[in-house]
Amino acid sequence: MTETRIQVDSIIIGGGIAGLWLLNRLVNLGYNAVLFEQDELGKGQTIASQGMIHGGIKYALGGSLTGESEAIAAMPGHWAACLENHGDVNLGDCNILSRHFYLWSTQSLTSKLTSFFASKMLRGRVNAVKGKDKPPVFDDPAFKGSLYKLADLVLDVPSLIETLAKPVQNRIFSIDWSQAELQKSGQRLSGLKLDNGLLLETDLVVLTAGAGNERLLDSLQLKKPAMQLRPLQQVLVKHSYPHPLYAHCMGSNPSPRLTISSHHCRDGKSCWYLGGDLATEGVGMNSAELIDKARSELFSLFPWIDFGHCEWATLPVDRAEPKQSQLIKPDKAYAEWAPDCDNVMVAWPTKLTLAPNMVEQARSLIAARLPEPSRRSVPEALTSLPRPAIATPCWESLF
Ligand SMILES: Cc1cc2nc3c(=O)[nH]c(=O)nc-3n(C[C@H](O)[C@H](O)[C@H](O)COP(=O)(O)OP(=O)(O)OC[C@H]3O[C@@H](n4cnc5c(N)ncnc54)[C@H](O)[C@@H]3O)c2cc1C
Repeated sequence: MTETRIQVDSIIIGGGIAGLWLLNRLVNLGYNAVLFEQDELGKGQTIASQGMIHGGIKYALGGSLTGESEAIAAMPGHWAACLENHGDVNLGDCNILSRHFYLWSTQSLTSKLTSFFASKMLRGRVNAVKGKDKPPVFDDPAFKGSLYKLADLVLDVPSLIETLAKPVQNRIFSIDWSQAELQKSGQRLSGLKLDNGLLLETDLVVLTAGAGNERLLDSLQLKKPAMQLRPLQQVLVKHSYPHPLYAHCMGSNPSPRLTISSHHCRDGKSCWYLGGDLATEGVGMNSAELIDKARSELFSLFPWIDFGHCEWATLPVDRAEPKQSQLIKPDKAYAEWAPDCDNVMVAWPTKLTLAPNMVEQARSLIAARLPEPSRRSVPEALTSLPRPAIATPCWESLF
């Protein structure tokens, strides 16, 4: 087979939030970038996420405002600008599920939450909710806890993926690694060889494959950066209760006891998607055990709601991140050159919320290496390659 060589500025591997946001940024800046996805866009963590774009208050609740809280605090504003089409990417077509979410505690923990929110540093970012302002879910005499409203966003993640993919769809391709290979030459990656005889030469490669980054690094005999996986088992409950809820229930831990987001299903029903401590403690449980635990959690938190006729499911899923000591949660987004390969960057946003922050780190590293984008259009020879679909959310695929 004759080999055709074509040149691009950058190859991105992996089409979750990290790869899609980065592709949009680079293309907007004039870089001739292309993205390769081995499955469906958003297939790993992104489509499993709860879509909460938060300013870090749930972390700050654990104690004082940390570095992490400071880094994340700017993110809701950044996303809001993009949703109004005047940010660094255009998200104007993305569905917003909610412009706020709630934080509540049961009666026994009310004082802890109240004194926290009374503290000066959070004034203006949170409001106490009382009386007739309570949303329908909490508007019952049986509710005795304290309730706060946070001005943070919840996005419909399938529509987010679609919105990011659309403007750059001519630059997104499927890849089958049994027929393709990244080629290394000494301390550099020289390109990507595809089965149809195409050799894509590039100045740099960015690995944004989430949990897939480790295997890609292995295939290049690169040991660093190391990755960690932190598992979760989310719970889904599909029902006909009409009121949506986007909220964290705070228990005695600094992390939320339960995080709830609500999603419309194609059959007209609604699905409450449950994370938080329930999902971390659910790791290793079998699905039936975890569903029992989730059912009693909902019965005890919402005794006034009838969850009798519901469908239940669980979703085991890993969070992929740069390795930390003792598997702790990383406190910022990560984008760095691989130490043993000159032109390979590895990136993990560590949170959906921090994707713009990760992409800005990546952009600034790329601009230092490649200050002049080529401003070329996508090579003609690529246009016949297959394209990936958008992943299906678990509230559609699991029932
Ligand atoms: C259950 C859950 C809930 C969450 N909720 C929130 C939330 O509400 N708010 C928040 O801020 N964060 C949340 N997060 C975190 C957030 O979802 C992730 O940090 C983020 O989605 C990671 O995006 P990513 O693009 O790095 O990886 P992924 O979304 O995993 O995307 C990686 C992509 O690369 C592809 N891929 C893998 N290997 C290869 C390969 N070899 N070649 C080509 N393509 C490859 C995959 O198919 C996939 O499309 C949540 C995470 C989980 C698991």
